[in-house]
Amino acid sequence: MSLNGRAALVTGSTSGIGRAVAEALAAQGAAVMINGLEDAERGAAIAAEIGERHGVQAVFDGADLSQPEAVRALVERCVAELGGVDVLVNNAGVQHTAPVQDFPADKWDLILAVNLSAAFHAIAAAVPHMQQRGWGRIVNTASAHGLVASVNKAAYVSAKHGLVGLTKVVALENAERGITCNAICPGWVETPLIQAQIDRIAQEQGLSDEDAKVELVRHKQPSLRFVQPEQIGALAVFLCSDAASQITGASLPVDGGWTAQ
Ligand code: NAD
Repeated sequence: MSLNGRAALVTGSTSGIGRAVAEALAAQGAAVMINGLEDAERGAAIAAEIGERHGVQAVFDGADLSQPEAVRALVERCVAELGGVDVLVNNAGVQHTAPVQDFPADKWDLILAVNLSAAFHAIAAAVPHMQQRGWGRIVNTASAHGLVASVNKAAYVSAKHGLVGLTKVVALENAERGITCNAICPGWVETPLIQAQIDRIAQEQGLSDEDAKVELVRHKQPSLRFVQPEQIGALAVFLCSDAASQITGASLPVDGGWTAQ
């Protein structure tokens, strides 16, 4: 297996895309640190399931990534318990939609903290360990909204554009050190994160849940299909491979053509 002996920390991996990424890395033999806002029992059960399915060590930590010191402690726990942090996937994210003049300041602060600042703190804590080994892979889950904007998403679009910028800086600073840093930019992926937006369309237009999903995708994604979380997992695995060692500082859309328009 290509990631045998490697340790991977995937933030926000109790659900959606992060969970699929953790599964994909574990399937390649990586020990995985699972994180998310779950209670300890449920989080431990998710980690145990992933660990047993793939025969790897899997540990849960419920660190709240809106707290900088908790992010740094999470990285150090990964090093202490899994023997390193060779792969760091900054994936946790939250969303809130409102026009800029109505955007609640506390939601702005939370989205910037979880979707952008947490990645900064995790990278800052992980990079010295990667530099020591002369090998590392940092994958940031950005978004199509890291490349283009949509209305009512001031905080999310700002955070994701910031994450794309951070990705480039970290890539440049580590280009000669065997460490790559890339961003994956998904379009619509069917996960709990977007359910509130589907519910709003259903309510406003009197549509069923299924028809509201079609309506949501139709406006942005020419493929007219959701991206599957497993497809993001597969790209993350590829970015961790030797074949991808010269891909760094890139922001890779997986968006059914959204950002080609
Ligand atoms: P999700 O809601 O299914 O999962 C989010 C994960 O982040 C969960 O594990 C949750 O517990 C964790 N999380 C949230 N706040 C946290 C905090 N303060 N501390 C620790 N963990 C926290 O969402 P998802 O769709 O899988 O989103 C994952 C990433 O993908 C996000 O960064 C999101 O912006 C991005 N993304 C999603 C889509 C989409 O259409 N779903 C598209 C583009 C990008």
